[in-house]
Formats: sequence, structure tokens, C-alpha cells
Amino acid sequence: MIPSVLPTYNRAPMAFVSGAGSWLTAEDGSKYLDLGAGIAVNALGHAHPALVKVLTEQAGKLWHVSNLYRIPEQERLANLLVEQTFAQTVFFTNSGTEACELAIKMARKYWYHHGRPDRVEIITFEGAFHGRSTGAIAAAGSEKMVKGFGPLMPGFRSLPWGDHDALRSAITDQTCAVLVEPVQGEGGIRVMPDACLKGLRDVCDETGTLMILDEVQCGMGRTGRLFAHEWSGVEPDIMMVAKGIGGGFPLGALLATEAAAAGMVAGSHGSTYGGNPLGCAVGAAVVEMISNDAFLAEVVRKGALFRQGLEGLVAMHPKVFEAVRGQGLILGLKCRSLNTDVVKAGYAQHLLTVAAADNVIRLLPALNIPDADITEALARLDRAASDVANNA
Ligand SMILES: *Cc1c(COP(=O)(O)O)cnc(C)c1O
Repeated sequence: MIPSVLPTYNRAPMAFVSGAGSWLTAEDGSKYLDLGAGIAVNALGHAHPALVKVLTEQAGKLWHVSNLYRIPEQERLANLLVEQTFAQTVFFTNSGTEACELAIKMARKYWYHHGRPDRVEIITFEGAFHGRSTGAIAAAGSEKMVKGFGPLMPGFRSLPWGDHDALRSAITDQTCAVLVEPVQGEGGIRVMPDACLKGLRDVCDETGTLMILDEVQCGMGRTGRLFAHEWSGVEPDIMMVAKGIGGGFPLGALLATEAAAAGMVAGSHGSTYGGNPLGCAVGAAVVEMISNDAFLAEVVRKGALFRQGLEGLVAMHPKVFEAVRGQGLILGLKCRSLNTDVVKAGYAQHLLTVAAADNVIRLLPALNIPDADITEALARLDRAASDVANNA
């Protein structure tokens, strides 16, 4: 019999009842060290007192009003994002997928607006993940996600990761935009080198192609900058944000330059829940905390500390681990053993990590994880790796 919850996930048997910082408490009272943070969502850890305060205060005032009216909390968060980024305008969503949908619509509308309704093709990259809507699966194009869901939305072309020549020849007078994650998350924590992002920007500039960055997973301080692309000095035309921005409250955003948003007018797009006062009040508190230079410097330092320990684990367990990947606190361990075996061995040590493609396990702790928890995580990963090696 089908479970009452549609079985689209292979769930581990644990269930959690509360959380604090980087720790989760299970139904049986035992504690787990959380290096997944809800897949980079709980950016400030569980139950951060400042966020609980903002959420409960706003909950007592106003949860939802329609976008038929001005929403001051939404304007405040939009202003913060505009101040801190390349963007001049923001649309709020409830998820990364919805931000992706708008990115696709906005890019196509841009060319329509400029009298080129034929420029519709969007270039994406192998290993990409942009969400689960019909548009987002067509964009990513991976067999696993699209099989059985056809016919797919046309107008996407997937290129090999890191093949510059393929990119140059793929951009034609039909190309609308290039869509890429500066650090692939689901794809296995693959960092696009700064030189590649710069090269991509140059090709986009030469051809008028819009550059859309998907920073749903790698943005919001993960790499040690507010957004990952800032390391390269390159700025996109459109950017998708979600996951960390709500600190656990469902919130996403699509950021754009004024030029890229030229085709979007009243009636072009909308959302019932997007930009509600509750989500935006929490989002503003998250953005204020994370966009602080001292906070981001700590992410860089903690990332370096964690990475150094992980390099040690790779050296100690060469049969289990192959290499460390990532930047800041979006880290991956490329495995030699089966990554899912390592994740399971972690569960036995009460340590939560997340599997990714390319046989990688992801380490996406809260950005404010205490150093002592990093040390503890390394000790648990060490024991988990020994178990995997012994059982091989
Ligand atoms: C998670 C993710 C999405 C989809 O976000 P949802 O909130 O699950 O809809 C899109 N792009 C990237 C890079 C992601 O990691």
C-alpha cells in the first residue's frame, strides 16, 4: 500500500523534534550533529534566538497580505538585497524552483521586449540542478529527473562542464541566456573556477546573452562572500536565491538588473505567497546577519579550518575518500567507497551529511557552526570512515 506521504524520497529512519545551533534532537532524545543544515537552508543553525524573536514578533502582527498592496517588510528586504548586490530589483518566491521559473520567463521576455522573440534558447551545464518544476527539469536535463515526464519544455541546451570551446560554439543568434551554478551543489560540489566565470561573462557580453546565476545553494554566505560570484569580480544579469535566505523559513528571490528586467511589467508575473511579511521579516534578519563583513570572514576561517581537517581525513582514509572539494562552508568529500555508505556510517555516529552526484558527500553546516563542533564533526567522520573501510 502506498504510504500516506508520497514516497518520492528514500528517507533515513530518524525523526527530529527540536534543534539548537548545529545539533538536532531525535524522538528518542539522542542528539545528532547536523552538517546538512536542511541542505544549506538553516544557514544560522536551528532555532537561532534572533530569528525566533523576529519570527514570533512578526507572527503576532501580520503573516500574509496580498501583493495587491505594498508590503513594507518586502520592500525592506528588497532594499537590503539591492544595496548588497549587483541587482536593482527583486521578486520574492517561496522556493528556488520558483526563482528558476521566473529567471527563464524574464530572460525570454527580455528578448521579446527587444524585438527578438526568436532568441529563446537557454544554455545550461551537465550536472546542474535548478529545481523540480517542468521548466527546471528541462533546464537541468538529467535523465534521472526528466525520464517519464515528457514532453519537456523546449529551448534548453546542456553543455559539458568546463568545456570553453563547446560554450563558444553553442552560443548562436538564437541564444537567450546562459544559466549556471557558480558552485554546483547537487552535481557534487563542483566549483566553477573564477577564470571560467570571467570567460563566460566575456562571451555573454560579446553576444548580448544574459548571464543567469543559480546561487540557491552556494549563495547567502556559503562560500565566505554574500554571493559566490563575488569572488570572481563578475556580475550576473539575473540571479536565483533561496535556501539560506530564509534561515529555515521557505523564501526565495530572483534578483535582476534594471536592464534584464525590462520586459517585466504589471501582470507579467505574480505569486500569492511570495514576499509575505512573515518570510520577509525573517529574511531581512538573515541577510543583515550574513552580509556583515566580520561574519563572512568567520565563514572563510571556519571553512579553512574544516577543510584542513578534511584533507587530513582523506590522507588517513585513502580507500574511503579521494579528495576535498568546495569553498568556504560548501564542502564536498569525493569518495572512493560508495558515498551513500559513508552517509549511513555517519548516521551511526549521529552525524548528518548529504549525498550528492559524482559519488560525493556534502558538508553544508550552519555558517556559524562553533569551532568545537567542527572538531567533533571531524572525529565522527573519522570513525565513520573507519567503519566503512572495515566493512569493505
Ligand atoms: C535546491 C536548489 C534549487 C531548487 O530549490 P527549491 O527550493 O528546492 O525549489 C535550485 N537550484 C539549486 C542550485 C538548488 O540547490
